[in-house]
Amino acid sequence: MSQIERISKHIWIQHADHKTDRPILAAIVGDKRTLLLDAGNSPAHAAQFREELTRHNIRLPDLLVLTHWHWDHTFGMSEWKLPAIANHQTATRLGQLKGLIWTDETLNELIRGGIINEASARHIQLEYGNNRDLHIIEPDVIFHDRLTIDLGGVLCELEHVGGDHAEDSCLLYVKEDKTLFLGDALGPAIYGGPYRYTSANFLRLMEQVNRYDVQTYVESHSRPATADDFHEDIKRYVQLARYVEAFGDDHVRITHEMKKYLKVYELPNEFIKAIVWFLTSDAK
Ligand SMILES: [Zn+2]
Repeated sequence: MSQIERISKHIWIQHADHKTDRPILAAIVGDKRTLLLDAGNSPAHAAQFREELTRHNIRLPDLLVLTHWHWDHTFGMSEWKLPAIANHQTATRLGQLKGLIWTDETLNELIRGGIINEASARHIQLEYGNNRDLHIIEPDVIFHDRLTIDLGGVLCELEHVGGDHAEDSCLLYVKEDKTLFLGDALGPAIYGGPYRYTSANFLRLMEQVNRYDVQTYVESHSRPATADDFHEDIKRYVQLARYVEAFGDDHVRITHEMKKYLKVYELPNEFIKAIVWFLTSDAK
């Protein structure tokens, strides 16, 4: 079961739960307002976080911000009844899903249309069971590139970065706590075909991420990471993306260079997969 944890002076999170793909939810608490980051994958997920916040006497959210439109981050919106802030592309995507009746047939149609994938359909079935009376809500405050939210003594900077995972992906930086929420922005594209990464997109995203002065990085489906741990992990993928840039679709060469870089005889599974994802996008 996911639990709540205070990760810095102003930030409480509920950890991700992989069973039904529940992402991290965060409450960022200022002197005047609490900002909720992501709505949850269902009203039940949302209610669980709200109960935990109440139990810990934490000021309940006044505003909601969405990292991107994917179901697991947004389908809990109806439970919160809060003004929701989102990128304009998030609003468009949610508008397209509004009014659907969420039967298995609808899920199959969305898979066929490349809007979701089989894994998300399975997770939706598991999270909701047969009671899929879910209401998609459209955001109230729409921004394009950047937005600063003042919570009273705590400034949150929202930046649209896009990328492979979702065109509407946003970062949220909590300045006073030097904490950067990445959403799923660094993940591969997962809908409308095989999983895939574009080396140029990935390197550009990392440049944007590296502009922030960060102590704690929070990816939505992982444990929060210290700056040292995050960079130690991500630098290997940055190197891989650079090899893809340098050697194009030469799978053998990229594998060889990566083994040399990691000083291993056998490439760990996550890199075997990542190379395939990169080459799916980058191969001409
Ligand atoms: Zn996502």
